[in-house]
Amino acid sequence: MKKILITRKLIKESEDKATKTFDPIFNTNDELYSQSKVIQMSKGCDGILTSLTDKMDQETINNLPDTIKIISNFAVGFGNIDLEAAKKRGIAVTNTPEVLSDATAEIGILLILGACRRAAEGIESAREGGWKWSADYLIGKQLTGTRLGILGMGRIGQKIAKIARSLGMIIHYHNRSKLSDEKELGAVYHKDIKSLFSVSDVLSICCPATKETENMINKETVEFFPKGAVITNVARGDIVDDEALIDALNRRKIYAVGLDVYKNEPNLNPGYFKIKSAFILPHLGSATKDTRIAMANLAIDNINEFLKTGNCKNKVN
Ligand code: NAP
Repeated sequence: MKKILITRKLIKESEDKATKTFDPIFNTNDELYSQSKVIQMSKGCDGILTSLTDKMDQETINNLPDTIKIISNFAVGFGNIDLEAAKKRGIAVTNTPEVLSDATAEIGILLILGACRRAAEGIESAREGGWKWSADYLIGKQLTGTRLGILGMGRIGQKIAKIARSLGMIIHYHNRSKLSDEKELGAVYHKDIKSLFSVSDVLSICCPATKETENMINKETVEFFPKGAVITNVARGDIVDDEALIDALNRRKIYAVGLDVYKNEPNLNPGYFKIKSAFILPHLGSATKDTRIAMANLAIDNINEFLKTGNCKNKVN
């Protein structure tokens, strides 16, 4: 049986599957392993099942044992792994697409609703007590008829678009490539971010974190938005320059934010805590039991498929 290091604790059903499939090394305390610990613990292993908390940079990958043939990431995003370094060492990298799109789109919509309808302030007031219903109390932004810009209209972006349409939003998007009519479903394509942001009453960031998308929301691009726009991010924190966004919130250029992901998680920029209109969640995108089991099953299947056939449909490098 193939020996596999699983760097984070999985839901029991997934660990049972791993035991039936491999000779796994589990992380029973769900400790956050250092890079050197991952290297040390993977000695004699054929593969590693990593999660987004494992920083598999060039140095770590270069020091992995020669026996490692695959890094199977328990996520659709793979910004935590240096794909080129893995490729140079002949190590396949895989991800878990599709199975988490519905759950993540739900959180994407929650971020839009939470930010637009002032849920953070509402929850705080309800807990504090002493609030009084009145005609102008905690007035928010209604979604009906507003324009939703989707930055990265892929699997998750398209699902967010579908739900947002049912709420009466008008969909605009930017990808590097325009979608087919069947995928676009009437959404308006913008060939650059300036054009997209200028019509986004609400933005939903759904693209991967890459060198190209790093800090795409920054001091300059935040000015492209209509005054009082709402920015939400269900993708990755690296896409946002926090200082620029916090400054735009303080100036009321941006009305509110809905954020699930951050640079340097879990130590998000403390500037967000001071902003009442910041609706912030602790990276919950795929956090439902069914989805986490489906992701782990796929991560396990990816290893199995690759070690048996030398290929895998979810290989990303
Ligand atoms: P996907 O299907 O690959 O979609 C990504 C979209 O982004 C594509 O439409 C792609 O279109 C676009 N894109 C890529 N690079 C771009 C660029 N430089 N500029 C503009 N658009 C670009 O991925 P997905 O499954 O929807 O997942 C998207 C991201 O969500 C993941 O990478 C992950 O980081 C994040 N995520 C977060 C959570 C969470 O817990 N919050 C959960 C799951 C996923 P083109 O290739 O045509 O540009």
